[in-house]
Amino acid sequence: MKSGEPTSPRLRVRITAAAETIVRGGHPWVFASSIRELNRDGTVGELAVIFDRQDKFLAIGLFDPDSPLRIRILHSGKPVQINDDWWRTRLETTLTKRVGLLDEHTSACRLINGESDGWPGLVLDRYGDVLVLKLYTFAWCSRVPMLVEMLRGPMERGLPPAATHVVRESSEKSADATPNTLKRAEACAPALVLRLSRNVQAAFAAAGFREAQILSGAAPDGPVIFRESGLRFEADVLAGQKTGFFLDQRENRRAVEQLARGADVLNAFSFTGGFSLYAARGGASSVASLDISAHALAGAERNFALNRDLADACRHEIIQANAFDWLEANAERVFALIILDPPSLAKKEMERTGAIRAYGKLAASALRHLRPGGALVAASCSAHVSAEEFFGAVTQAASATGRKFTQLNTTRSAPDHPATFPEAEYLKCISLRFAP
Ligand code: SAH
Repeated sequence: MKSGEPTSPRLRVRITAAAETIVRGGHPWVFASSIRELNRDGTVGELAVIFDRQDKFLAIGLFDPDSPLRIRILHSGKPVQINDDWWRTRLETTLTKRVGLLDEHTSACRLINGESDGWPGLVLDRYGDVLVLKLYTFAWCSRVPMLVEMLRGPMERGLPPAATHVVRESSEKSADATPNTLKRAEACAPALVLRLSRNVQAAFAAAGFREAQILSGAAPDGPVIFRESGLRFEADVLAGQKTGFFLDQRENRRAVEQLARGADVLNAFSFTGGFSLYAARGGASSVASLDISAHALAGAERNFALNRDLADACRHEIIQANAFDWLEANAERVFALIILDPPSLAKKEMERTGAIRAYGKLAASALRHLRPGGALVAASCSAHVSAEEFFGAVTQAASATGRKFTQLNTTRSAPDHPATFPEAEYLKCISLRFAP
């Protein structure tokens, strides 16, 4: 039984007219409520072929009888045979898209971004020589061995965006002051780590897979150290949020570096200090990393320690607090650059309106701490709040201060995080500069 396929007959599906239009338009999800007809009961992970009203092939996807998201489309358009060759070609196509996407000083990136890359419910992130496969649906379970096998080649040959170079970098002679222990850590042995979204962990466990399992290679014996834009960071690939680091903010962090010269910076919702390090390198006079999580802040301190020259040049303050409360309570603290990157404030569509209001309120609260001439960088990772709604909420809060400001920039998803349908467009970021 290869790739989780039952022998026969092929699972054939008919869907509503509305769903047909949506699938034809390239949307990757078919909900249970859109299914009109099945020729038999389907099993989780098997391939389901959708036929249109003219009885023509419409699409093929992964079936899941236990999820309201009943079919995740792999391909639509012309009929295809999904076999090992098809999967290999898809992997090659996806990885090729990342070649040359990032600079040679960056060894971490998203190699597969779920639906938007044609891999519904599957994410593959690279941190140096360590790959993290994160699965959001049980429908992939029977194909995990196939994925391990398929990734073997690229892992041995070298991964995009550039060939593996972390090991080489760490053995460079130069005036590199990196302690030997870090050099060893940076030359982390290749590995493929399995991470499972919480809601599928029990089902995977019953099938013999566990969260943080090493699927191939050697278990990293600590955080994996990688480079982003020439800065060193650690990723806790075994237990950290997402796959260990927020790779999606890379370009926004680079923009922050450009705004930081001479500034005292507040990085609110800092996690492990991604924005803080870029601000420090950009010439910030001081950076305060503010997060509710002591664990995240300890990571921020270690990341500063990994970039010794920055740690020496820029004062790094750690503030462990609820950012919403802290901003309300500490009126005397002012900054020339404030970054706001809260967790999603709308996890469900129902929470959308409240979230828009909360983003506005948070921006207003932060702006009370902004010096004249200062800049605000505000991000949202709520898929339920559109870019227009979010940018609107932040600019309204800015207007309400009565201070003059200009909009510097708005951004959406990062180049290695393509978003091909509305539900995938979660990240948006806006930067404003206030008059002196
Ligand atoms: N900007 C980060 C990612 C932020 S993720 C980066 O570039 O890597 C969101 C962070 O918000 C998490 O670290 C989480 O611990 C923190 N957080 C969640 N609720 C919070 C709160 N009420 N106050 C402060 N931090 C909070």
